[in-house]
Amino acid sequence: MQSNLISPFLFVMKIIDIVRAVTVVQEAIKRKPLGLDISFFSQYDLWIYHAVLDDRLCLTCLDNEKTPRIFGNELRAKFPYLEIIDENTINAKVHPNCRCLLTRITEWDIDTLKWFIQTAPREG
Ligand SMILES: [Zn+2]
Repeated sequence: MQSNLISPFLFVMKIIDIVRAVTVVQEAIKRKPLGLDISFFSQYDLWIYHAVLDDRLCLTCLDNEKTPRIFGNELRAKFPYLEIIDENTINAKVHPNCRCLLTRITEWDIDTLKWFIQTAPREG
C-alpha cells in the first residue's frame, strides 16, 4: 500500500522551501512601487507561466505550465527568445507562434501566497 507520509528529509526540504518562499515574498513587498523602478530579471521579480490550453498546445509548453512559478533571474535561461510586452507581461516565445504568456505577480494577497507555496517544486 502506498503511504502518503513523506520522509523526514523531504519534510525538512519542504519547510525550507516554504521559508524561502516567504522570505522572497517579504522582499517583494519591500520593493519600490511598480513604475518607479521596473525590473524584469531580478530574483525578486516573480512570474507565472500561462499556456493556452487548447488542441494547439505543444508538449514543451504543457511542461512549462506544470512548473508555473518563475523567478526573474531564471527568465533568460528558460526563455532565451522571450519578448517583453509590457511591464507585467512577457511572451515566453518557447517556439515560433508560441502563445504562452508570463505575467508578473504584482499583489501578494493570501490566495497568491497560498498558490505560491502550493506550487513549490517537488523534490524527487
Ligand atoms: Zn507556448
